[in-house]
Order: sequence, then C-alpha cells, then structure tokens
Amino acid sequence: METTTKSIKFNLLPLTNSKKERVQTQADYFKEVYNRTSILLPTVIKPSRKQIGKWRKNIMKDIPLYAQTIQEAMSLAMANRKTAIQETDDITILNKSVISYHNQSWSIERHNNRWYIKIPAEKNGRSYNKIWLPIKDSNYYDDIICMNYNYFGAGQYDIKSNTFITSMTTDINEIEYIPQTFIGIDRGWINPAVLVVIDKDKIVKEVKFFGGKEYIHIRKQYKNRRAQLQHNKQLKKVKEINNEEHRWMEYENHRISKQIIEIAKKYPNPIIIMENHLTAPNNIKSWTHASLRQKIEYKAGNTGIKVDYVDARYTSRTCNKCNHEEKDNRQTQNLFKCLKCGYTVHADLNAAINIAFLCA
Ligand SMILES: [Zn+2]
Repeated sequence: METTTKSIKFNLLPLTNSKKERVQTQADYFKEVYNRTSILLPTVIKPSRKQIGKWRKNIMKDIPLYAQTIQEAMSLAMANRKTAIQETDDITILNKSVISYHNQSWSIERHNNRWYIKIPAEKNGRSYNKIWLPIKDSNYYDDIICMNYNYFGAGQYDIKSNTFITSMTTDINEIEYIPQTFIGIDRGWINPAVLVVIDKDKIVKEVKFFGGKEYIHIRKQYKNRRAQLQHNKQLKKVKEINNEEHRWMEYENHRISKQIIEIAKKYPNPIIIMENHLTAPNNIKSWTHASLRQKIEYKAGNTGIKVDYVDARYTSRTCNKCNHEEKDNRQTQNLFKCLKCGYTVHADLNAAINIAFLCA
C-alpha cells in the first residue's frame, strides 16, 4: 500500500464552562511538566534514560496528568531544548496553552450524530476520565474520519484557538485517482487479447498482441485431436482432452494477465478498460474470456490499478479515425478497412483503441 501523510486541523465547537475549566487544568499540568523538565535539562547536557526515568517518577508524584501525556510534555521540552541550545543558552519555557497527545492517548468517536475528540483528563482510580471535544461542522469530516479511523497520528490541542491538529496516513489510491493512461483490451478468439496504451491526449503509446502463431497452432492441435476422438466415439478421451485444454488456457491466461499488469505499471495512473460481456460462460470461448477478465481484475486489484468496463457492441465495426460505423468495415476476422475514409488496421487493434477511447 502506497501511503501519504498530511496534517489536518479540526475546528472545535465552543466548550461549556465546566469543560473549559477541565481542559485548562490539563493544559496547566502539561505546562508545568514541560517547564520542570526544561529547568532540569541544563544541569545535564545529555540525560540518560535512567535520569529521565527518575525525573518522570518525581513529576508523576506531584502532577496528576495522564502518564503518556507527561511523557509527551517531557519529550517536547527535550526536543525544544535541543534546538535552543544551538542558538541560545536560555531555558525554553512553554507559555502557550497547548497539550500534546500520543496517537494512542486520544481517539475520535461518534455520539448523537456528531464526531468528538476524546482526550484523557482527571485520574479516576486506575483509569482516567475523558473530555469529549465536539468537532465543528462534524459531518463535513465524515469521509475523512471513516477512511482514517485507525491511522491518525499524534495530536495537539490548542486551547486558545480551540483547535485540534493531527496528521493522517491515507492510502494514496483512496484519495483521488485521476486516470492518465488508458489501456484498452480487446479479447478475441484468434488473438486471446490485444492491448493498446493511449495517453490523455489520445496518443497511442504501445500496442501488444497476445497469442500469436504458436498459440493458434496449439489450439488447432487440440481441435484436431478432439475431432478425431469424437469421430472414433472415444468420449472418455474427449473429456481428458477438454480438461487438458482448460488447464493450458488457464496457464496462458495467467501469463497474459501478468504481462498486461506489467505493462500498465510502467505508465502514470493507468486504468484498464475491457468490454462488458454479459453472456454467461457457456462455451469454451466465453469461458476463456471470463477467466482472463477475472485474472486481470484480480492482479490489477492487488497492484492498485483501476479497471473499468464499457459497452463494446460497436467497437469492432467503428473506425477509430473518423468514427464511421458500418458492419462491413470489418472485412475479415483480422482486417478492418473503413469504408468511408479508407483507414486500414488490424481489426482487434481497432477494437482495443475504441475501447480505450470510450474512457479517455
Ligand atoms: Zn474511417
């Protein structure tokens, strides 16, 4: 999964007076931990883990702040001290009312049709009470929150601006996928597939015919053997031949679909477009087509490549140059010759280009 991280700022609704008091207390504690750590720091240039542990223990005795948040305040003080040391010898003091939270210390929850940010507050026995901060324009964030439910990073609450800032990690493909490369695939019978790659300006970038002479030869052999066996009424053997041919085609479809994905991966934001066959796979031809389509879908899904389908009824008899549509444009199984503009091309390639154009 390819991911990207960006920061997000939640504006919060004004808090009730009692909540305001509670968060202010938390912010004061946070400030206290920060400043105590800052003051301790100049006495030790580079504190050891043991030293930090000792400080933390003492702080925890005095300040009833959530343990993980104490850690956050100390870390922030140490990080700021490190930067300050290079510029000045002054102790860094936290003046703002902000509180930092580890990504596991805070959460987002929905209650009565509104999203809330939940932060830990007063110690209550072995656990901590929570403060629920209501998110403003809550519904606007529905998609973002649902998509990132488990992928929010550390958070920072700023009391003065009443905002909560965090970062989110998102699957790049989920954000917005604008196809830039259109890969049309025509599944044929003589050629199991013809592929064409066109860019967003409808320029052909690559063409590939799958199958070829060897493929045709093998299929012809199966056909001849089957005819011979049927003629001799060896029905059991016919079944064996059929199974063997199925296995061979499965293998070929695996190979072809793999190559198609390899080609697609070379281009920016590719989308694979195939015809939308609605017929059930009731013979070997449609079965082969369905099997290839399924394998392309599966491999594309694993790679994050999009797949789309188009109604391909007229793609084999429409000229991709002048759009003239006529049944006799397709002169033979292989030859396409436009009766209007004279453009001549392999019939399956013409169909693949038209399929790609339907999405571009
Ligand atoms: Zn034409």
